Amino acid sequence: MASILPRILIVEDEPSIADNLLYSLESEGFAPCVCGTGAEALKRFTAEEFALVILDVGLPDTTGFEVCKQLRALRNVPVIFLTARSSEVDRVVGLEIGGDDYVCKPFSPRELTARVRAVLRRFNGNSSITASTSDLVPSSDQPINVDEERCQISYYGEVLPLARYEFRLLKTMAKHPGRVFSRSQLMEHASDEPEAAMERTVDAHVKTLRAKMKAVREEVEPIVTHRGMGYSLAEKWL
Ligand code: CA
Repeated sequence: MASILPRILIVEDEPSIADNLLYSLESEGFAPCVCGTGAEALKRFTAEEFALVILDVGLPDTTGFEVCKQLRALRNVPVIFLTARSSEVDRVVGLEIGGDDYVCKPFSPRELTARVRAVLRRFNGNSSITASTSDLVPSSDQPINVDEERCQISYYGEVLPLARYEFRLLKTMAKHPGRVFSRSQLMEHASDEPEAAMERTVDAHVKTLRAKMKAVREEVEPIVTHRGMGYSLAEKWL
């Protein structure tokens, strides 16, 4: 009988990380398998169906970015990147690569499995099969408009009075409505010195952001809290 567990392809060359992922995904009810190189992953992906791919950015024979491009040329599949450096994060988050999510090393297997679930939920919820969730751009009925040049964000047509961090936080979330950002990911995007800043400050910034947005539309809850994970911008608007 064919397995009905969601199959996850892990592409990771560090055996300790790969083993860890295998174990935690298996114990969470997934059917994972591991490839150590990009070439091996492509071969496997061509031959079998996978519900999701976890892709290390630094592979021995190529980059995770290149593998992602080649996988997506074959068929649409959600991808979570494993990154080791913040310079990689910028590329992952940029729409040029089209990753659905990412986690930074070192990460807890528990965080990763939570993200696998979230991405699968989003992907399956949104699927028309041809539309990649990663290609989502804010639709025109999105009430948030980011003006990068003026460093301004308007909300239902009103320019929000934002401090610098608030601007960067909201801009980051607005680029990917619905995507859950952890506090440390938001910190990386909002701060010049992320390691010096406490994650708690993200909570403080989100709190003032919410207050400022409430002042424009009392009845709208624009920022969603994901317990134990972080924040996202709402996908559905009144
Ligand atoms: Ca690696």
